[in-house]
Amino acid sequence: MAANNKGLNTICTHTGELEDKQHKGAVSPLYMSTSYAFEDVDVKRYPRYFNTPNQEGLCLKVAALEHAEAALIFGSGMAAVSTSLMAFLRAGDHVVLQQTLYGGTYNLVTEEFSKYGIEFSFTDGWDAKDFADKIKENTKVIYVETPSNPLLTITDIEAVAALAKKHNVISMIDNTFASPVNQNPIDLGIDVVIHSATKYMGGHSDICAGAVASSKEHMERIFHLAKNFGGSLSDYTVWLLERSIKTMGIRVRAQNENALAMAKFLYTHEDIDAVYYPGLPSHKDHELAKRQMKGFGGMLSFELKPSLDSSKFQKSLKLIKSSMSLAGVESTVLSPTQTSHALMSPEVRAEQGIKDGLIRFSVGIEEVEDLIADIEQAIASVKKSNLVYSNN
Ligand SMILES: *Cc1c(COP(=O)(O)O)cnc(C)c1O
Repeated sequence: MAANNKGLNTICTHTGELEDKQHKGAVSPLYMSTSYAFEDVDVKRYPRYFNTPNQEGLCLKVAALEHAEAALIFGSGMAAVSTSLMAFLRAGDHVVLQQTLYGGTYNLVTEEFSKYGIEFSFTDGWDAKDFADKIKENTKVIYVETPSNPLLTITDIEAVAALAKKHNVISMIDNTFASPVNQNPIDLGIDVVIHSATKYMGGHSDICAGAVASSKEHMERIFHLAKNFGGSLSDYTVWLLERSIKTMGIRVRAQNENALAMAKFLYTHEDIDAVYYPGLPSHKDHELAKRQMKGFGGMLSFELKPSLDSSKFQKSLKLIKSSMSLAGVESTVLSPTQTSHALMSPEVRAEQGIKDGLIRFSVGIEEVEDLIADIEQAIASVKKSNLVYSNN
């Protein structure tokens, strides 16, 4: 773990880079081969074995970023989530998952697990105590997501990790929203850290990938299932992801700053009813976020005053685009009710505190003044159309 002695941006830029011995180029060469000569009996290189030169290089970088012994890169975040969960669960086992879960993970669990005889419970809230409440005799895994989507709730990572250790179960975290720049759960005792690399690791909305980091022992177990499930990433995309991560520290820190500025702006705005951002002192778990995060991230959500139509507002935005995904260098918004959480019943959404007018905001790296101006003009435009309607 020598790489861990280096600072974040040095790891981002250099760890795991491959040397261009032939031409001395500045960047890692890309090896697209799917076929390699046997060097010795132990090293059989093959893309689906997750061990091509480019894959191995990037795994070193991700492991160093998450202060882990080892890592694997997957073809999507969901390949990373499904393979990690299934590696530690078998028929008759039980898993406790956080209530406010990424939609894809929720679907995986609720649509697939019963086919394999795997039992599951969702927590009633997001405190460590809520996880303790659901642990059973046959619980094998606890799965947490913090900050959560879309309300940015914060769970005490250290407390959940301690709970898992006490019950001798594996703790897993979806660390996508924080990114390794803002949160390193292994330092807080978590066993397995999962990322949708489609988000902050990729950062440019042009890569779909996933990553898992853990101890050598746990990664060995995950690898054995991974090679059978076959969710590896093409070397070309691995190479692109390596390039993207070089600027991850700089990007995410800029997004932290922008998101905090936008959260403060929205919080004091008379047409905004609520702002959810762990970096605001008004956030319920601000102190906890300060303790376990290095930055508060680029994601926030907010509610307009009920008199302002949130879909009209989104359509009126010019610079900030509506988009399903998140974490790119460009700012985007989304209505959870209409998109990510549309399949949930209104009752379940209400239970989770997701109001119809809620807007999730993925803050990019643009100039804050331009983002503020765009939001101001969109609010003015919705107000104007309200006036037109009331005059008719
Ligand atoms: C996007 C996302 C995933 C799934 O990742 P894909 O790359 O889309 O498969 C998992 N967890 C979180 C929090 C996400 O935002």
